Amino acid sequence: MDYEPVIGLEVHVQLSTNTKIFCGCPTGFGAPPNTNVCPVCLGLPGALPVLNRAAVELAVKASLALNCEVKPHSRFARKNYFYPDLPKGYQISQYDEPLAEHGFVDIVVDGTPRRIGVTRVHMEDDAGKSIHDGFKDSDRYSYVDLNRSGTPLIEIVSEPDMRSSDEAFAYLTELKQTLQFVEISTCDMEKGHLRCDANVSVRPRGQEKFGTKAEVKNLNSFRFLKQALDYEISRQIKILESGGSVVQETRLYNPDVGETFSMRSKEDAHDYRYFPEPDLTPLSIDAAWLAQVQSAMPELPARKRARFIAAFGLREYDADVLTQSRAVSEYFEAATAASGDAKSAANWVMGDLTALLNAAGREIGDSPVSAENLGELLKMVAKGELSRKLAKEIFPKMFATGQSPAAIVETEGLKQISDSSALETIVDTVIAANPKQVEQFRGGKATVINFLVGQVMKASRGQADVAAATELLKQKLG
Ligand SMILES: [Zn+2]
Repeated sequence: MDYEPVIGLEVHVQLSTNTKIFCGCPTGFGAPPNTNVCPVCLGLPGALPVLNRAAVELAVKASLALNCEVKPHSRFARKNYFYPDLPKGYQISQYDEPLAEHGFVDIVVDGTPRRIGVTRVHMEDDAGKSIHDGFKDSDRYSYVDLNRSGTPLIEIVSEPDMRSSDEAFAYLTELKQTLQFVEISTCDMEKGHLRCDANVSVRPRGQEKFGTKAEVKNLNSFRFLKQALDYEISRQIKILESGGSVVQETRLYNPDVGETFSMRSKEDAHDYRYFPEPDLTPLSIDAAWLAQVQSAMPELPARKRARFIAAFGLREYDADVLTQSRAVSEYFEAATAASGDAKSAANWVMGDLTALLNAAGREIGDSPVSAENLGELLKMVAKGELSRKLAKEIFPKMFATGQSPAAIVETEGLKQISDSSALETIVDTVIAANPKQVEQFRGGKATVINFLVGQVMKASRGQADVAAATELLKQKLG
């Protein structure tokens, strides 16, 4: 029988606020354990939460970027459960009245466009962290660091709309890129700023009813997401084919062995004894503020891609690469504006610049070559002041020094030789040194001109203007 996977993702994203969601403690990463804490985020009795406006603003931006409808009224709720790193004994989350609903993310897999529904976006606080290793007595004890406790999160729940691990991969990619564009989070998976759980089931193709799902946790990289889904899908198919039935449970992915294993039976919502958070008033988003946030939204990647193709004539692949991050897209647009040549700017950003950045381990945001300087270089090539070959030599020097191309041309004496007297001397020397080829050219073998131009370039150490040199050679020989 042919089976079809059904996948939905729950993604937790840490919002990039300076302070926590319900207190003024800093959210910074890497502080000594249990130093960024106060009575509120330690869950001490009597401490009262106060909602961080900046966190709400970022959550609203994320919701808008995911095409969700932001609710004028939503409500926080307590989700009760015990964890050693959750001193309150509950998480402050949202339950039946989330911040936003009914959104979508568009993806393309193997050339086929698909729209993946976003069920809801809700806000919540993060728990602390249990540390099980790295200490002398870690074989006997676990340690708790509460610095993360109270860090603002949003949870983005998708519809069960994905039908393959590739679609899940594409959805998470688009989601991450979009959230980075609106700058609501770094989405750094290694630091846990973006965490992904997947609900997976399989059903015979053509059947409408969903199969029993398992929730797979701990998918903290794109690679693990795909591996874990592929493993889980084939595990469930094997169970069904051998006449068994899938158990509803929470499973953990172990990347070391590439398998998922059972962690606990799946809890239902009622197990958490949700009830409205009595220490916080319902959250109201007024229309004027919402409009203000909306008007400050940047252009999102999907729209930017389409514009790059339509306005600049870029290939789809190039538009994809150049919208991978907001910083890259902004650099490209600035270089295009400075040079007036989008295609050259695209080639240089994706080629030479990316190569040098990678080699230096730097991000485009701190590229030593500014977009304006790259634009200037491209302009000099277009005007015939520099050959492409010289430009390729100058560029690494711009990268190493941060100088403008004009400054490097000046100090290195690299200016292209296109003024006729200097060029004429070189051309005359080349003609005198190659009588055989000159004879062949005059005898009608036109392609020999390429050899002679090559000799001129060589004699000028690459500084001759190819077009001018060709023209002058033809004149003199013809
Ligand atoms: Zn605090």
